[in-house]
Amino acid sequence: MTDIQSLLQRLGLDRVLPAASTGLIAYPGQGALHQDHSPVDGALIAEFHYADAALYERSLAACQEAFLAWRQWPAPKRGEVVRQIGEALRAAKQDLGTLVSYEMGKSLQEGLGEVQEMIDICDFAVGLSRQLYGLTMHSERPEHRMYEQWHPLGVVGIISAFNFPVAVWSWNAMIAAVCGNACLWKPSEKTPATAMAIQHILKEVLQRNALPEGLFAVIQGSREVGEWMAQDERLPLISATGSTRMGKAVGQAVGARLGKSILELGGNNAIIVTPHANLDMLLRGAVFGAVGTAGQRCTSTRRLIVHESLYEEVKAKMVKAYAQLRIGNPLDEANHVGPLIDQDAVTAYTQALQNLQKEGGRILCGNRVLEGPEYSSRCYVEPSICEAENHFQIVQSETFAPILYLLKYKSLDEAIALQNGVKQGLSSAIFTSDMREAERFLSAQGSDCGIANVNIGTSGAEIGGAFGGEKETGGGRESGSDSWKAYMRRQTNTLNFGSSLPLAQGISFDF
Ligand code: NAD
Repeated sequence: MTDIQSLLQRLGLDRVLPAASTGLIAYPGQGALHQDHSPVDGALIAEFHYADAALYERSLAACQEAFLAWRQWPAPKRGEVVRQIGEALRAAKQDLGTLVSYEMGKSLQEGLGEVQEMIDICDFAVGLSRQLYGLTMHSERPEHRMYEQWHPLGVVGIISAFNFPVAVWSWNAMIAAVCGNACLWKPSEKTPATAMAIQHILKEVLQRNALPEGLFAVIQGSREVGEWMAQDERLPLISATGSTRMGKAVGQAVGARLGKSILELGGNNAIIVTPHANLDMLLRGAVFGAVGTAGQRCTSTRRLIVHESLYEEVKAKMVKAYAQLRIGNPLDEANHVGPLIDQDAVTAYTQALQNLQKEGGRILCGNRVLEGPEYSSRCYVEPSICEAENHFQIVQSETFAPILYLLKYKSLDEAIALQNGVKQGLSSAIFTSDMREAERFLSAQGSDCGIANVNIGTSGAEIGGAFGGEKETGGGRESGSDSWKAYMRRQTNTLNFGSSLPLAQGISFDF
């Protein structure tokens, strides 16, 4: 038995359902059969039947029923269940983080970090369960009181992307749960096993608390299942994470039925490097930002906008740093860069570099698909640094691969215009020790992104802040701060404790 097989056993995946004929995990759908291969070594992890319409209906009905009971639980009691989920995740951290790494391809450290993020959001949600505050207002009418309350929405639909196979679900589900909602989750078809592992971990917590499984249901499927969800009026809120193409489709479908949506879509993130930057710090931030998760984070650094006075120096340092990167199995902690998710992603990488050259750009390093026994999945590529212009079509679009474009600027205004001069608006950063430059970048005339950092790279957000971006990134906010409000409906209450009925605005209506 391989290590991975015992890992799946420890996560209880072999017990979720009887083993399928060829794979290790089965799923009760009747839809198309889907094979889940690891990008690490190409091995088959599991075989799944996608959900068919009947299973979708059964799952949604289970969620609706769970919601009717759950909404009656006091919010702090809901928080107690989420606390237990956090404990269960703590216990499973090593195994779950390893599976995230093996199924998605990110480094083991990042896989463990992803599970830690889930634990952190559980802790956050537990505290939040006692802080779902509404305001009170003074009424203009005598002996009247006005206040607002926040009530749960119902069943929240969560559609997630492959690159954060579990953390993004938890940002949504743990907050939605303390708010009193049930959740129906469609994970990425590229990372179904981690979703099943989560379902198994939750099952035990739900059973212990005599709660129905429909509180956190998982439904496996391709985009078709996501489309059903987007169109379904029984899902008052759809939180969708993925490409801008997906977000436009989901946004239109949910908008057409006047539902609510949280859209967390693609980024095109830049770091501005001013003459006052600490280059040692920059190097760490920029290299991790560009090659971490093999460039497959929505917040990955895609553009480095460097002042002309230090452009050549930064370029040389970056190319030298890339030469030291070790590419290989992400479970081996000696490696810095793991595989891309699949062959399609490798094709997108090679095509992007071809297009860059056609547009007049120059490749400084990378542009190689690695071969050999260690790279048997054929998903490993060399991270690339390129000289480019911001207006190139390829620079304007998000390629989900480790490709970094170097751009040159003369004035800070020009740098900010370049940084903002793309359709996406997720994450941005400036490296400077000059307070005026930093404040200008953070001001209303500065970065137009949802995330703007100083002396920190573009990736690696903490759960305490609201996460999301503007423009084609979709405008949604998840995780910390007051993002919880999107998972609830606001009700304004006016209560008359007098014995007359005065009308607002002094209107008289006597008869
Ligand atoms: P994707 O858009 O291909 O798929 C994401 C999810 O949407 C999957 O579950 C997929 O099945 C589903 N889907 C696809 N088309 C759909 C449709 N028309 N209707 C309903 N559902 C549909 O994205 P991906 O390749 O899995 O992930 C990479 C993308 O996700 C990148 O663009 C990345 O920037 C983005 N992303 C954004 C954030 C963020 O918070 N802004 C976080 C992670 C990833």
